[in-house]
Amino acid sequence: MTNKVVIATQNKGKAKEFIDLFAPFQMEVITLLDLDEEIDIIEDGLTFEENAIKKAETISNKLNCYAIGDDSGLIVDFLNGRPGIYSARYAGEEKNDEANILKVLQELEGVPDKDRTARFYCALAFSGPGIQTKTVSGTCEGKILTEKRGSNGFGYDPIFYVEEYGKTLAELSKEEKNRISHRGNAIKKLSQVLDEWLAGSDKK
Ligand code: IMP
Repeated sequence: MTNKVVIATQNKGKAKEFIDLFAPFQMEVITLLDLDEEIDIIEDGLTFEENAIKKAETISNKLNCYAIGDDSGLIVDFLNGRPGIYSARYAGEEKNDEANILKVLQELEGVPDKDRTARFYCALAFSGPGIQTKTVSGTCEGKILTEKRGSNGFGYDPIFYVEEYGKTLAELSKEEKNRISHRGNAIKKLSQVLDEWLAGSDKK
């Protein structure tokens, strides 16, 4: 039986967040970048969960190993949940952070502070041979500012204000962000149930 878990991402930073999680299980954590073959996964789900499940199951079925798929994005209340699952390509072009931020700021022009509530959402799916795919999720609550602040992080971080710190996510250190982020919160939840999930598989 495999003692490997593949994180369905090309992002080494994301994979790092999972290494500690799997340390107690003596499982090797690798990403799509470590595989010999290229696995193309089209994100065509209608929810974060659907996309995360598709990523985890595609990898798990193909490689007969444990896999984690994740999908995340920004939910703005005034915009009825947009950009949501389309966060990466909200302004049209894939992963153009500047254009995406500008579009959200324009759509919120003139909207008062009290109505600028938003949250980041992260769904994680865990899949593997002999177990049914399961999901957890995490959120990070905040507000959308009227202009950018800070230069750390990525995506919508410079306009996402976190009350607890009095700063945007782009003004926080990586450690501070991991402590409160949607992904950090989802990983914490996964760590609480992983033991049980693995016990239901043929890993133990
Ligand atoms: P993915 O799930 O990593 O592909 O993220 C989808 C998109 O959501 C990213 O391209 C960002 O635009 C946005 N996003 C997800 N997580 C964050 C975050 O922690 N900070 C800022 N933007 C994020």
